[in-house]
Amino acid sequence: MIVARTIADVRAALTDRRDGRIGLVPTMGALHDGHRALLAAARASCDTVVMSLFVNPAQFGDPADLNGYPRDEAHDLDVAGEAGVDIVFAPSASELYPSGYQTWVEVTELAAMLEGEHRPGHFRGVATVCLKLFTIVAPDVAFFGRKDAQQVEVLRRMVSDLHLELDIAVVPTVRDADGLALSSRNAHLRPEERARALALPRALATRDPDTARAILEAAGLDVDYVAVVPFDPPALAAAVRVGTTRLIDNVPLEEES
Ligand code: AMP
Repeated sequence: MIVARTIADVRAALTDRRDGRIGLVPTMGALHDGHRALLAAARASCDTVVMSLFVNPAQFGDPADLNGYPRDEAHDLDVAGEAGVDIVFAPSASELYPSGYQTWVEVTELAAMLEGEHRPGHFRGVATVCLKLFTIVAPDVAFFGRKDAQQVEVLRRMVSDLHLELDIAVVPTVRDADGLALSSRNAHLRPEERARALALPRALATRDPDTARAILEAAGLDVDYVAVVPFDPPALAAAVRVGTTRLIDNVPLEEES
């Protein structure tokens, strides 16, 4: 497995692999079984699997959230190796955002609702870094998790609006045995908070926004939103705060079209 730290190195590693199908799995590390599912989907359908490992400062509004984001590169490289990743692209922040940087991608309407209301600038950072990764790696397909349903919708819009030549593949949400969707942020939950967080998958399983809100509030969770979202497929989505940890989750209400 090649670990590339620079744009030049990852491009060089890919030059003689362009004849085959290249799959990209963007991650921010602290890898868990949700990421493993994305890597397995990529491995099963691509000749070359590239995993990016980059905690993107541009998508964090709160410096404390960015600084506290779990990081464990040794673990992440082990997981990538076990999953059969060919190339890990793990750049520094200054490699992607050198001094003087000033170009951003805005997906206007889709990025303003729901997560965008509560995390202004978040999707600007996500869209920008993904466009960079798509340009640097030039994959045939990029893999994303259904758990971040709005992210998928924003990126699909960007790919279509900017005529990018890649497919977006979406992998179902991976959950712990107790129903909680896997997330790098779960590491921040104290045992008591984790127990209360189980109200999130329980609430969404009702598939009804009013019932779901009542369950979330009864569990003492701070609800940022719980709503039926007009994505493909439509989903019941929610964001809650448990102590200082913010969790998002959703359940599809129909099959994808
Ligand atoms: P992150 O490292 O949190 O930015 O996530 C990287 C990718 O993994 C994104 O496409 C996420 O949607 C996806 N992902 C995160 N958690 C899960 C999960 N529990 N199941 C499936 N995909 C996930």
